[in-house]
Amino acid sequence: MLQTPVKYLQGIGKIRAQLLEKELGIKTYEDLLNHFPFRYIDRSKFYKINEIRNAVADIQLKGKILHIEEQGEGRKKRLTALFADETGEIELVWFKNYQWIKGFLNTHTTYVVYGKPTLFNRKFNIAHPEIESLQDFQKKSFVKLQPVYSSTEILNKKGFNTRLWTQIMTELFKETGLNFKETLPADIKNELKLLDKNQALFNIHFPQSLDLLHRAQTRLKFEELFYLQIQLLQKNIYRKKKIKGHVFEQINRYFNRFYQNFLPFELTAAQKRVLKEIRRDVKSGIQMNRLLQGDVGSGKTIVAFMTMLMAIDNGFQASLMAPTEILAQQHYNGLKKFAELLGLQIKLLTGSTKKKERQLITETLADGSLNILVGTHALLEDYVRFNRLGLAIIDEQHRFGVKQRAKLWQKNTPPPHILVMTATPIPRTLALTHYGDLDISIIDELPPGRKPVKTIHRYRKDKLKVFEFIKKELDKGRQAYVVFPLIEESEVLDYQNLTDNYEKIKKFFADTPYQTGMVHGKMKPDEKEAEMQKFKNNQTQVLVATTVIEVGVDVPNASIMLIESAERFGLSQLHQLRGRVGRGADQSFCILMTDYKLSQEARIRIDTMTATNDGFKIAEVDLKLRGPGNILGTRQSGIMRFRIADLIKDAPMLRTARQYAYRLLKNDMYLQKPENQVLKYFLQKQIKESQFWNLIG
Ligand code: ADP
Ligand code: MG
Repeated sequence: MLQTPVKYLQGIGKIRAQLLEKELGIKTYEDLLNHFPFRYIDRSKFYKINEIRNAVADIQLKGKILHIEEQGEGRKKRLTALFADETGEIELVWFKNYQWIKGFLNTHTTYVVYGKPTLFNRKFNIAHPEIESLQDFQKKSFVKLQPVYSSTEILNKKGFNTRLWTQIMTELFKETGLNFKETLPADIKNELKLLDKNQALFNIHFPQSLDLLHRAQTRLKFEELFYLQIQLLQKNIYRKKKIKGHVFEQINRYFNRFYQNFLPFELTAAQKRVLKEIRRDVKSGIQMNRLLQGDVGSGKTIVAFMTMLMAIDNGFQASLMAPTEILAQQHYNGLKKFAELLGLQIKLLTGSTKKKERQLITETLADGSLNILVGTHALLEDYVRFNRLGLAIIDEQHRFGVKQRAKLWQKNTPPPHILVMTATPIPRTLALTHYGDLDISIIDELPPGRKPVKTIHRYRKDKLKVFEFIKKELDKGRQAYVVFPLIEESEVLDYQNLTDNYEKIKKFFADTPYQTGMVHGKMKPDEKEAEMQKFKNNQTQVLVATTVIEVGVDVPNASIMLIESAERFGLSQLHQLRGRVGRGADQSFCILMTDYKLSQEARIRIDTMTATNDGFKIAEVDLKLRGPGNILGTRQSGIMRFRIADLIKDAPMLRTARQYAYRLLKNDMYLQKPENQVLKYFLQKQIKESQFWNLIG
């Protein structure tokens, strides 16, 4: 029954069915049933006029008209009515086709007015409200909670309004009857006092009361999150059961030697804890899939290197993949120093590695004499074959797709242990869904002695003062980054022009001993590298750059990060950029320079940055501003779309769902018990139909 094409539903027919499929992907009765309203209008509730504060949604008022008047001339002609209740007055406006309204409005009837208030000349008014007499309103027996279905412009044009949707849903329930199978295990449903499936579906489309609507929503959200967590946890547990991993038992030769003799600093407690978690994984005989989160500057690199040593101590090779050439190069430079101390072989492979070097790399990889290979995407090429790859590390995971992760897996049988590192704090809710199949380690502590970066907001008109300030810091021996949002090729009109500004900045420092350099994305890798090197060696003191320096670049003497047109950057980008400073012992500054005029969102971003250095807090705000898809990059990571749950608002429920999923699987990993057969059936059905499961590693 549920698989019946919608065209057979009374009142839909062929043409509407085609529209529904094309616009919303609705093909069957079941799809229709699962097309939930995205909001409800409470038509039993009346606002008072003096309660109107922010003009967010439709409201309903009850009152009388004091005065009606036609105003304006020609095209500006309009009908206005001054409407009042016992608390205040508001203007109603009609711009066209108002003759009939003018005809029936009078000043002695009580009306019900419904519409969206907007602010105009500091006063609220409502344009084109629905209006009817209170008497008529009371006569109607419509549902007081009126569902609103998400629709599209085309559907709206073709008459898919609230009335039609309600008709369709009424017909759907009539034809199918209320006998849908229960999809949640009985004990969970009882414990959490969830509505049963039938009641939930009915009330989500036809809320009988506000309370029942909430319970319907809770039930359906829980179901969605629970099914998701079951799948993620199953995958995780399954992998741990089935996928053998190399056993790194020994840590004598290199790991201990490094730890005792060469470690340049005391590890933080968080670093030690994470190393222990990793060590436990790689000894267990099961393949490790671990996500290592740590804010910029928290010291992930050393953890990565010491994990490599665990692999090498056991006769394996290790690789580290970074998203950009600069970053790969930098990792290589850093790790090389350590590797040389220990007499280990390490090489760098990127798109611009010369043929001869490439050959040497392939040979030494194959015969096993190369211990560590650092590089970019180039590592994924088929010709890159390891002798015994035991560990693959990926830095800045969010830049890579899941496909790439999978490709690394295939470089060895059994697959190498995988350590994914990210400096972009992923809100826990997202981590639990998107990376739910990975184990998570967090470095939540910065190395000691760091002074938090001071973040300041300045307007562009104070640019000169800002540069005077920078000069003073340079006088103390510091260095500065100046970052611009785009490179000159952009056609966007009011963007800063990087080269122009570069010249201006150079000119500003002309009478000083300070040299200015520039890096941007259109430069050749070796030119870029040369410029970076100059900055690192303090041959240049000011580095003008685009976001190519966003990830990972490490110059501890740089203590100023000036971000021009900061309103153009996203929160996580700003946070990453800020992470480039504050790496030495000196007080560092991040200056966010913006236009005077800021959009509301830009203001929130800037305020968040000046208020906190906590990457996780910033990530939470970012998640709220942009939604989960944008944070992980919808295209590359194939983030899941939820039907009803909301990762931000439903975070606590997500955790509950995960707990219950875990408990269930602990007792019945393969869902073999009779009481879990229904769950198993629906789960398999969902996996078959869903877009995202094949995307998760
Ligand atoms: P990220 O996590 O951003 O990759 P890095 O690994 O680049 O951070 O480390 C940032 C800086 O902190 C580096 O200069 C590194 O040498 C230093 N560092 C890392 N761990 C410690 C520590 N425990 N004590 C002191 N300095 C450390
Ligand atoms: Mg790093």
